[in-house]
Formats: sequence, structure tokens, C-alpha cells
Amino acid sequence: MSELRELYQEVILDHHKRPRNFGALAEANRHADGHNPLCGDRITVHVDVENGEIRGVSFEGAGCAISRASASLMTDAVKGRPVDHAERLVEEFRHMVTGPADAALEERLGKLAVLCGVREFPSRVKCASLAWHTLHAALAGGTGQVSTESPDPAHGK
Ligand code: ZN
Repeated sequence: MSELRELYQEVILDHHKRPRNFGALAEANRHADGHNPLCGDRITVHVDVENGEIRGVSFEGAGCAISRASASLMTDAVKGRPVDHAERLVEEFRHMVTGPADAALEERLGKLAVLCGVREFPSRVKCASLAWHTLHAALAGGTGQVSTESPDPAHGK
């Protein structure tokens, strides 16, 4: 178990230091800003949606290692996927970090499972969830602002 934790830690640090899909996205047609005031994480997610598919996705902003790694992993996970697949991942990720441990879910989420450890640290759950809430807002609204401190009625959290 501690070996697994070390591996998880390495993946998180790697994505923090070398975030994937970081920067602006010229062809993006959806954008949302997310803010986690408790930690100071800020993120902007850009998405290029074409025919119900996420053709491109990127993020910008500044935040702690967990929030950056989560955003980086998120972009990798949804790029090239249908929008409804991404929305399902948003839900499943939320379940993983807020619910009880669920080995089947973690296996299904693959690499994203490196963030499952945050469930033991409620303040870190918001860092890990920020990119996903922001992606959800971008997909739902075109342009939007989300904060981890103003509940999204659709998610109850
Ligand atoms: Zn944070």
C-alpha cells in the first residue's frame, strides 16, 4: 500500500511540475473560471466542443500541487472524448473523492485514482475537485464562474 501511495505521489508531482495541456486554446468555444478561496487555487478551463465531442481542452491558472495535478489529469482524461463521457467522469471523480473507498470505481478511473487519497483530507477535496467543477461549468454554460464555496445545485456540493 505504501508503494502504491508513493507511486500516486510521483504521478501527482509529475503533473504538478509538468502540467499537460497548460495554456490558452485559440479554438476553444467554452470557458469557465474556477476559484477555491480556501486554498487560493484559481483555474480557467478552455474547451473546444465540436459535434458533442471535446476536440481540445486546456487550463490556465495557479494553485497548489493537488489542484494543478488534478487539472492536468482531467484534461488528459477528457480530451478527444464525447461530452457525455466527460460529464460522467465529473460525477465519478466526485464520488471517488467524496464517497467511501470503492475499488471498482478507482479501477475504472485509472490514472485519476492517484487522487483518491484526498478523501481523507476534506480541505484537499476542494483542491482536487476544482478543475472538474470548472470543466462541468464550461460544458454546461459556455462561460461561467464557479467557486468551491458556492454550491452548485446540480451537484449538491
Ligand atoms: Zn489547493
